[in-house]
Parts: sequence; C-alpha cells; structure tokens
Amino acid sequence: MSRLLPQTMKALVKTDEKESYELKEIPVPQAQEGELLVRILKASICGSDIALYRWNEVAQIIAKVPFTPGHECVAEIVGVGPNCPPEFTVGKRVCCENHYYCGYCYQCSHDQRHICQNLSQYGHGKGTVHGACSQYSIIPARYAYLLKTDIDDNTACLLEPFGVAHQAVEGLFPSGETVLVQGCGPIGLFCIGICKTLKASKIIVTDVIDEKLEMARTMGADVVVNSKKEDLRTAVIRETNGDGAGRIVEATGYPPLVNNSFSLLRKGGRIVLIGLPKAPLHVDNVLSDIVFKSLTMTTVHGRKIFHTWEKSEEMLHQKKVDVSVAVTHEFPMSQFEKAFEVLFSGQACKIMLNPQA
Ligand SMILES: [Zn+2]
Ligand SMILES: [Zn+2]
Repeated sequence: MSRLLPQTMKALVKTDEKESYELKEIPVPQAQEGELLVRILKASICGSDIALYRWNEVAQIIAKVPFTPGHECVAEIVGVGPNCPPEFTVGKRVCCENHYYCGYCYQCSHDQRHICQNLSQYGHGKGTVHGACSQYSIIPARYAYLLKTDIDDNTACLLEPFGVAHQAVEGLFPSGETVLVQGCGPIGLFCIGICKTLKASKIIVTDVIDEKLEMARTMGADVVVNSKKEDLRTAVIRETNGDGAGRIVEATGYPPLVNNSFSLLRKGGRIVLIGLPKAPLHVDNVLSDIVFKSLTMTTVHGRKIFHTWEKSEEMLHQKKVDVSVAVTHEFPMSQFEKAFEVLFSGQACKIMLNPQA
C-alpha cells in the first residue's frame, strides 16, 4: 500500500430486515488474496435499490442482511491484495461488474458468466457484505473492470446500467429499423441513445411523464408519445405505415404494456424485455401476436463480461451517447435519506451519490 489510509470510514449499512439504512463509521477493510481495496469516487442509485431500501418481498429474494448497498460505481484502487493480475495498480480507476460469477457452472464455462447459476451480487449482501455506498470498499480483481479512457467519473459510474442497455440494443440489430422504446427510466433513455448511434431509422418513444419524454428527445427520439394523452397503438400504426415497429425495447416492466407490446411488433420483428414485471404476463392473441409473427424475443440480465463494458466505454468515450442527460440529482452520501425521498417521489431519473461528502 503506497499511501496512508484512515482506520475507519463512513458507509451505509443495513443490519436488520427493515426499511432504510444507517450511516455508520466502520473499519476500512483490508484487501485479501485476489482483492482490490478501492476508494469509491461516485455511486449511483438503481431502481433495484428501492426494493433494498424498503426491504419489500423482492429485496428478500435478491438480498441478504447485513450489507452495504450500492452496485453502480467508479472507484480508485488504493490497495492491491496478493495475487491480483499485474495490471491492477494503485491509482487506476475501476468499475465493478456486480454479477459475481462462480466460474464453474455451465454458463461460466460457456462464456455466459453474467448469467451464472450461482450468482452473488455486490451491494446486495449475497456472497459479499461490501457495496458502493461506502468511502472505501473491496472489489475482487476478477470482477473489476479497469477503465481504459479518461471518461469522467459520473459517466464511468453509469457504465453499469448503460451496459444493460447496450447488451439489450446490440442484440436487436436496430440499424435501418423503426424502434419503439417503452419507458424513459435511465436504461430506456440509454437505449434511445444507443439505437441512434447504431443507426435506427426512426425511434418512437413512449412514457407517461412529459419531462422524461423531453429527455428522450434530447437522447435522439424522433417521435414521443405520452400514452396518457395519446393512444400508443394509433401512433405506432401511423409512424410505421401500419406495419408495426420492427424493433421494440420494453423498459417499463409494467405488465399491461409488456403484454400489449407483442401486438405492436411487426411480423418478423425483434423485441427485448428489460423491465421487471411484478405480476404474471398474459398475451391474449398468442397466435397472431406471437407464433405467426415469427418474432425473436430476447431478455437481458447484466452485461457480457467484459465485452459489453469495453464496447460501452468506447461508445461513451467517443461521445456518441451523453449519459449525463439522465442525471437529475447529485447528493453527498450523508444525505442519502433525501436522495431516496426524491427517488420515491418519481421526480428523479438517475441520482448520483458522492460517498466522500
Ligand atoms: Zn443496477
Ligand atoms: Zn457460474
């Protein structure tokens, strides 16, 4: 270790199965074999962090107390444990691939580590108590993505959710296609920018909040539809000469919209599901809307390790997509309660936290 580190640090922790976190002063951890000790520069709050904060039924499936929350981050290496690959050196910046794969299962041995059967997760208390809402943290070197460019800290922090959007859109082959993007949360917005970069011919976007549709325009949407004010089907038929959308990105997870999306898809089209429905799905006209459409449906969970990270960083470094459009708030970590309040209010898109403040 090349610099003097403090003995203790501030971190958010959840020790009991109840709502909220505690801001605590806890010991700075030490990097063990294969681990990096990092200083967190920025962390951002994800939609899934709502469940963890509130500790609802979803949280009880995806997380386990005790833990420090936060899985989207950029950090600086301040300590390197024994037997880390030599490229990990003090002072370099890393992000965390929070899908902690086992390395042994079928997926792990077939280049699909991101959907490992024995997945642990950084910031969820599964397999590790560490998370990004902390001044210092531990990231095993094998899950650390070493940044290759000088992209700013906020942009680097957003590589994790951006990667989910990248993987989703990459599999859609949007070039020359009319794409319908449902939902303007951060990932929906990133999908719009990536579709634009990959040369979609027309991007139709739907949401129910006008401010979010404005952000969609900034990201490159050609047509925006507030489905509370305008019938989405009518708009899609009008904008596609009655063919339906050739590509659909479903990023709301809202069951009625997910169910309906198949009927808006052109025959032979491609649809990707990213949103997380909290109820069973049901399609009425299975023959006409699914089977006879000869459609291709994909789903995504996480990022291809580390293909997606590299492609995503390249795209952001070349300024092909500006992720800062999605950032609506920044808070010092000490004001985390305020940050979650804003998130619950529905006014926020992406919220950044600074653990050092
Ligand atoms: Zn996330
Ligand atoms: Zn595995």
